Amino acid sequence: MNRPSFSREAGVFLLSLALLAGAAGGGGGGAAPALVEVYALRHYTHPNFTRIVLDLGALREYTYGELHAPDRLFVDILQSKLNPILHGQSYALGAEYLSQIRIAQRDRGIVRLVVDLDFNRVKSYRVYYLPDPFRIVMDIYPGRPEKAAAEKAPAGEPEAKPEPKARPAEPSAGGYSLARQLGLGIKTIVLDPGHGGTDPGCVGSGGEKEKDIVLDLCLRLQKLLAGIQGVEVVLTRETDIFIPLENRTVIANQKQSDLFVSVHVNSSLNPQRTGVETFYLNLSLDPDVDQTAARENATSTKSIGQMRDILTKIVQNSKIVESRDLAHKVQGRLVDALSASYSEVRNLGAKGGPFWVLIGSNMPSILVEVSHLSNAREAARLKEEAYRQKIAQGIYDGLVDYMQSLGKVPAVKK
Ligand SMILES: [Zn+2]
Repeated sequence: MNRPSFSREAGVFLLSLALLAGAAGGGGGGAAPALVEVYALRHYTHPNFTRIVLDLGALREYTYGELHAPDRLFVDILQSKLNPILHGQSYALGAEYLSQIRIAQRDRGIVRLVVDLDFNRVKSYRVYYLPDPFRIVMDIYPGRPEKAAAEKAPAGEPEAKPEPKARPAEPSAGGYSLARQLGLGIKTIVLDPGHGGTDPGCVGSGGEKEKDIVLDLCLRLQKLLAGIQGVEVVLTRETDIFIPLENRTVIANQKQSDLFVSVHVNSSLNPQRTGVETFYLNLSLDPDVDQTAARENATSTKSIGQMRDILTKIVQNSKIVESRDLAHKVQGRLVDALSASYSEVRNLGAKGGPFWVLIGSNMPSILVEVSHLSNAREAARLKEEAYRQKIAQGIYDGLVDYMQSLGKVPAVKK
């Protein structure tokens, strides 16, 4: 019920978003974006609905969800800070279905809006954004709940399922999932060796193929992860077969996986470009990321017309915070592992990017670009068993870091 409905303006929506992203992208990649100020909160009560508008200085990711006992809706805006005038403010509305709105600065550059309401008196709500200037809008419609009438995803498209309805408590660490709040461990990890079959991925000057390298890397990683008690590891492919991008997260969802790791080898038009980078699903403000995403998305069968739904999922993906955290941990450990034995290992960072293979997953998901096949030095290293083992070890270390951050230390068999 919280999926925005689009009309014929969808094209305008896309164009505006692209312009906005372009305008904000002048700073170059790598550096963490500055905090953007949430400078105003406005609300209107119409006879048919209540609208709440948050005004921001620039495009930012956000997540939202329901909290129960007492009933609340929240929106977390990432990489943002609250104008001091708004800090800790609350606004009493007094409507029978909606009592008050609160806003506060949370940890680590996250602003949280909380709406206290009564879900038994709310028919539906939606959270969406408008560009120029960037605003996040929440519309709440009173009436009897229409939970059974929630909109279905278009046929054939994996739907990002909402969080479980019942939550025991408000997240304490900025939008972390139920599993994380409860300190539950990771039971299943899906490893996704990129490409396969008729799709070789990128190809080196000596004919070496990305699809073969990443399968070998994932098999090595699987062996390492097999040493952790209670964790099952599933590969999206164990042989040289083609699997459509869109089916890969479907596999992960079916397995009820807790983590999804897609492994790739990078390629650039610039043969000098080197390094390791890790992505989580997000809009990109970086032309280099767009180039990588375009290459990795090349075999998608999705039409541009489906992009509007996809973009909505990207900015509303409830797993952005965790995926980003996972990406940072894997990226850091991978660079550490390679740097310990190899010189000039370039850390290109953990960053957001619009990768089809990450869309539709219900769990924290990342895509690792382990090195460049287009660079002579890295292509030579990728042929070495030792280098491949270091890559697997680095990703493994990052995954273990992440699992430990959930509050449970995995028991590693020696
Ligand atoms: Zn690839």
